[in-house]
Amino acid sequence: MSRLVVVTGGTRGIGAAVAARFRAAGDEVVAVGRAECDVTDEDAVAAFFAGLGPVDVLVNNAGISTSAPLARTRLADWEAQLAVNATGAFLCTRAVLPGMSSRDSGRIVTVASVAGRVGFRYTSGYTASKHAAVGLTRAVAAEVAGTGVTSNAVCPGYVRTDMTDQTVRRIEERTGRDGEAALAAMSPLGRLLEPDEVAFAVAFLAAPEAGAVNGQTLVLDGGGVQ
Ligand code: NDP
Repeated sequence: MSRLVVVTGGTRGIGAAVAARFRAAGDEVVAVGRAECDVTDEDAVAAFFAGLGPVDVLVNNAGISTSAPLARTRLADWEAQLAVNATGAFLCTRAVLPGMSSRDSGRIVTVASVAGRVGFRYTSGYTASKHAAVGLTRAVAAEVAGTGVTSNAVCPGYVRTDMTDQTVRRIEERTGRDGEAALAAMSPLGRLLEPDEVAFAVAFLAAPEAGAVNGQTLVLDGGGVQ
């Protein structure tokens, strides 16, 4: 049966792979970037979801990242990451949850990060925002426990996308080292993830058969973070 799937940040990278996977499975997919729905804008989010039919699957994937040592982290960068990565997921979840609850059916999957499970240096804003996204996931899961709605997160390591390209370039500019090799070496997986590997995990958590999986954070790093 075809489902209505909304993927925020679905224009590029992981979100585009998630959208492609659901489309290939026969679902109706609405994949949006900032131009269609800025997830930090309360009114825009409300208007966007009001214009859709009943949403069966919400994938909170929109995200941004910056890096700097804490002492050089600008308030604007801290706030921007909290706004997109945490508040954006909150606003979208709030928009779909009443409908899902009234139909006793729905899947919410948030693309967090291994930085939602452990602390990484030079990414205080990103790490805090992803811990908040995981906290939101778990709080929603507690609210919907025992119903047909679930709330889970995936927590990938570095994925081959525009976001990671920026990190690779920064490493290369600052150290002269091979940026991709440096990131790969930080992960037990020993390589970057491909976007479709994340999409696979999202599809698993969103599957109709996954009703017993709720409040979980599925780590995709090859075996390091428990
Ligand atoms: P990209 O930078 O490749 O793409 C980001 C996406 O988010 C774009 O579609 C962008 O839309 C959208 N976006 C950004 N800000 C907003 C906003 N305010 N409102 C709506 N959409 C917005 O990122 P990735 O694909 O790498 O990352 C996707 C998610 O996965 C993020 O949450 C990220 O934190 C997470 N993640 C990424 C990892 C990685 O290594 N890349 C690892 C772990 C987690 P637009 O087209 O408008 O720019």
